[in-house]
Amino acid sequence: MVSKKLLYSFIPLIFIFLTNPVHAAEKQSDIYEQRMAVYKKTEALTQVPWYYLAAIDQYERQIQKDKDDHIVSISIPEEIWYGLGNSTLSKDTIIIDLFNGQGKDGNGDGKADAEDPEDILYTIATIILQYGITDDEIRIALWNYYKRDLTVQTIKNTAKVLKKFQHVNLTDRDFPVSIRHNYSYRSTWGDRRGFGGLRIHEGTDIFAGYGTPVKSTTYGVIEMKGWNLYGGWRIGIRDIFNIYHYYGHLNGYADNIKVGQVVKPGDELGSVGSSGYGPPGTSGKFPPHLHYGMYKDNGHSEWSFDPYPYLRKWERMAKAK
Ligand SMILES: [Zn+2]
Repeated sequence: MVSKKLLYSFIPLIFIFLTNPVHAAEKQSDIYEQRMAVYKKTEALTQVPWYYLAAIDQYERQIQKDKDDHIVSISIPEEIWYGLGNSTLSKDTIIIDLFNGQGKDGNGDGKADAEDPEDILYTIATIILQYGITDDEIRIALWNYYKRDLTVQTIKNTAKVLKKFQHVNLTDRDFPVSIRHNYSYRSTWGDRRGFGGLRIHEGTDIFAGYGTPVKSTTYGVIEMKGWNLYGGWRIGIRDIFNIYHYYGHLNGYADNIKVGQVVKPGDELGSVGSSGYGPPGTSGKFPPHLHYGMYKDNGHSEWSFDPYPYLRKWERMAKAK
């Protein structure tokens, strides 16, 4: 038997091992490689592009918080997996077929396991294949599966980003205004706003001079560009984490910025201005600043949350480069 004294002497060692940042980083890169391997394997089996499978998984990972450390986070509803009225919840594919369940055996072990990464992806790919594998057909398949426009839009955008960068380890970030210029900001999320009735301030204001470059903070797709009564010349970017990033009061847009375009952290979007609070072109009603807002989608609704702690983090990351 191991003495208690000896056992206790290991505890600090175990602690060091678990909290070692090098070890944690290796574990993270491992999971990205494992994910990529199952996406690619499922693509080889079904011809459904890996970046769509990865985008569906990425979307669900943001929704299924209890599954965010799984290789694949997709949760297929029981009535779809096992079939309507099948209360056996048996992984036997013969029983599942009997009830018209969609659960499939992707790894060849004879079972359709709703917790197995290969079985889950093969099942999702099979559901998509009923429609086809062109972008339009996949869009229809996604709509019929999720029955929600924002979900389809988010998955489509994420697939576009993943296809462009050809990997799933896209965790880099940047600060939204150039840190080489003078700027200042503080936490003002939730403050009351006068203009346009009773509204709360849904974002952080970063004060900087006219023309200071404004940059994308994340990987994503430009979803909105143009004039808004409150936001002036603004840009909306939907990222690959079900988050919508709103940039308001711009002075103008960078060349080639257009709706549908894929962006990465640090890509220039435009510059700081004071546009807004009136008809198109209104400017100068307040000091120049970037209004930066973040909205999270949980699969049912979208709400504003405080970007301030993220801005502090991204500012540190930008300064460390
Ligand atoms: Zn603001």
